[in-house]
Amino acid sequence: MPDFDASPNAAPRVAERFLPAPAIAGKRALIIDDDREMQTLLALLLERQGYAVHIASGLEDLAHAPEQLQAELILLDFHLGEFTGIDVLQLLEEKRSQAAIILVSGCNAATGEAALATGKSHGLNMLGLLPKPFKASMLAALLARQGQAPQPLGAADLAEALREERLFLVYQPKLELASGRLVGVEALVRWQDPLRGVIPPDRFIALAEDSRQIVALSWQVLDLAFAQQARWQAAGHTFDLAINVAPQMLYEPRCLTLFDALAERHGVDLTRINLEITESATIDCLSYTRHRLNGLRERGCSLSMDDFGTGYSSMSQLYRLPFDQLKVDRTFVGASDRCSEARAITTTIVELGQRLNLKVVAEGIETPSQRVLLESLGCDYGQGYLFARPMPTHQLTGWLARHHLDAF
Ligand code: C2E
Ligand code: MG
Ligand code: MG
Repeated sequence: MPDFDASPNAAPRVAERFLPAPAIAGKRALIIDDDREMQTLLALLLERQGYAVHIASGLEDLAHAPEQLQAELILLDFHLGEFTGIDVLQLLEEKRSQAAIILVSGCNAATGEAALATGKSHGLNMLGLLPKPFKASMLAALLARQGQAPQPLGAADLAEALREERLFLVYQPKLELASGRLVGVEALVRWQDPLRGVIPPDRFIALAEDSRQIVALSWQVLDLAFAQQARWQAAGHTFDLAINVAPQMLYEPRCLTLFDALAERHGVDLTRINLEITESATIDCLSYTRHRLNGLRERGCSLSMDDFGTGYSSMSQLYRLPFDQLKVDRTFVGASDRCSEARAITTTIVELGQRLNLKVVAEGIETPSQRVLLESLGCDYGQGYLFARPMPTHQLTGWLARHHLDAF
């Protein structure tokens, strides 16, 4: 049997094999590389796979056309003139990108693997490494992995997770820095997905906000947290439980009535409940929010402003809303022992909290030197991997038992 077709239609069909596949709607790739030859080569290979390809030479191009970052696939060169791939990974993290990312690298394998690990630890979907020089088959093998990877999360997945009650909470201890005494734990939500495994909140809180499911999610979290606090109360524990609350929940007309009903059903002592509210662009009516927060405070809850320093209108929110605690964002704390700017910002925020008679909490303390710095500034409380990572209740029970023996 000849492997060619002698029919009149044969010529166009043979030629088609060498044409790029037509771009499939929604299949977009972005190449971030400052090497012209590499741009052309990668674009050709991706177009053959049916991608509509955009090219950026570096961060400057992305700053001018950020919509390019909406691509499903990103090929990122590691050396971009004055910037590095790490700068771009940071940008992708900020944008909560769900794109599959391939690192194109001329570095040694160890550096490449370290960069992949950094991306993964920041919640990015790192597909793998394409070492230079490469063969087309290597790129094809990486792209095949993308097909195997679970689809990006969508609103319907989240709706199902809420319906099937797939959210669960982990808890991170909060300590008094001067004494090492445990003062509370923060509840942090996770999504247990049957295909994707455990999904961290950074990958679905924005989705919940965009798909208007954040209020339903917040009530589910509150229900889980109150149930756990009731169990701890019954066991004689006296630490506070901090719960992250989305501002959108406060705008519900029946917010306080539902809150009371839930608290009563679980029998929780509200003076042990601390509500953390992230300074946020979504707090657009400060007077109304203040009214609601005062209502929660009258019931005995204390209030924290979370992630201070990273939002849009921090100062006016801090000034107008009735907070008891101020949480210094981990971006500043985590860099405070190696970067003088981060140290200056951390110091200033701690002082600001003290002047406003607020308790100050440093989040994201990872090293002994960060702890020493924060303690010397008079920061009241600390949270971070140095003391404990967020953990499920059964692990926390063991941690609590050990904590009585170990001094931090
Ligand atoms: P957050 O409230 O500021 O929570 C602290 C985050 O910092 C947690 O991430 C925690 O795991 C992480 N963390 C703690 N110590 C360290 C450290 O030493 N180093 C580093 N690098 N990270 C540390 P997680 O659990 O991924 O939560 C991320 C954010 O998601 C939270 O930030 C909060 O804004 C949001 N979130 C979490 N749970 C909920 C929830 O139940 N409801 C709402 N609305 N938002 C939530
Ligand atoms: Mg928090
Ligand atoms: Mg925080």
